[in-house]
Amino acid sequence: MPFSLAVTPLRLAFRDPFRIARSLEDRFAETFIVELRPQAAARSSAASDAGDGPSGLGEAFPDPYFGENTVTVPALLPGLLAVAESVDEPRETAPEALLAWLERVSVAMDAHIGGHGAAKAAIDIALHDRAAKRAGLPLHALFGLPAELPPTDFTLGIDAPAVVAERAARAAHFPALKIKVGGPSDLETLEAVRAVYSGPIRVDANTGWQPEEGARLVPELVRLGVELIEQPFPRQQLAQLRWLQERSPLPIVADESAITIEDLDGLVGVVAGVNVKLMKCGGVGAAYRMLRRARALGFKLFLGCMEETSVGIAASAAVASLVDWVDLDGNLLLAADPYTGLELDDACRWRLPAAPGLGVSRRS
Ligand SMILES: [Mg+2]
Repeated sequence: MPFSLAVTPLRLAFRDPFRIARSLEDRFAETFIVELRPQAAARSSAASDAGDGPSGLGEAFPDPYFGENTVTVPALLPGLLAVAESVDEPRETAPEALLAWLERVSVAMDAHIGGHGAAKAAIDIALHDRAAKRAGLPLHALFGLPAELPPTDFTLGIDAPAVVAERAARAAHFPALKIKVGGPSDLETLEAVRAVYSGPIRVDANTGWQPEEGARLVPELVRLGVELIEQPFPRQQLAQLRWLQERSPLPIVADESAITIEDLDGLVGVVAGVNVKLMKCGGVGAAYRMLRRARALGFKLFLGCMEETSVGIAASAAVASLVDWVDLDGNLLLAADPYTGLELDDACRWRLPAAPGLGVSRRS
């Protein structure tokens, strides 16, 4: 099926400045919304869903750390779509047939170009949205997954300890907080947060620590009720990660070191957990396969995100029942999410839409 490709770049303000150890950009999130329309429908001014079936919505949030940016994504999308179109879409709408097709598309995109997980994710998510709509199922049900999810945590960027503590007090209804560290005053920040928040704290250094610093902080983190330590050291430093994991009663979770399913085998015996993100691995189908493989290898599972709108978060939430820890708060970090349809319940669990597909739409 040929599709028309509509790409909408968005530059969205953050609710609070959002700084992490390896990035200076902290005021805007830059993301791309992609809509794929069956081409015959696109030619008609009515653009109805009849005949060629439904359109699909996807998102690409490029992170320069992983080699993507606001130039590479729009440049690669037409080629990735052409690759996807070259894989015949099944006429039948049984979930197994649709998922097998979506996996073939994913394999073909990976053969076309390495990396570029966010650009691939945009196509992958849009085709999953369309496939689930064709099957008449919400996306999690296309995968045969339950609608009940663990609650999401809420992430606070690096700032002065008192500022982070004030934001922690505002977010105290979340059952866990993720605190970005790797700044100049990590311990003071965590002490200040602990003074106003009693739940579990997850820390993420985004590669910003030195080994001795990490080892020195571990007993303090245990004392402060920290639940896990994410990516303390640079991506390639697997020996350092293993060294700290051997000294830490807290699980070390690989994020920057765990980009795609290909990275998992090398992390066995190195870290206790991995953080899977659709924008790293190439979409919701790739994330589903990576999560299942990581579970089979014995990892604890974290499902994370970039600072996406509800489009990317809804796609992530569809597979969130597979994980131990959920960090799907990108849309909550935005001052105004342009998409609607995904709601948090009182326990901070995403309530998955009952409508077929992703179940999100542009806010009117
Ligand atoms: Mg991280």
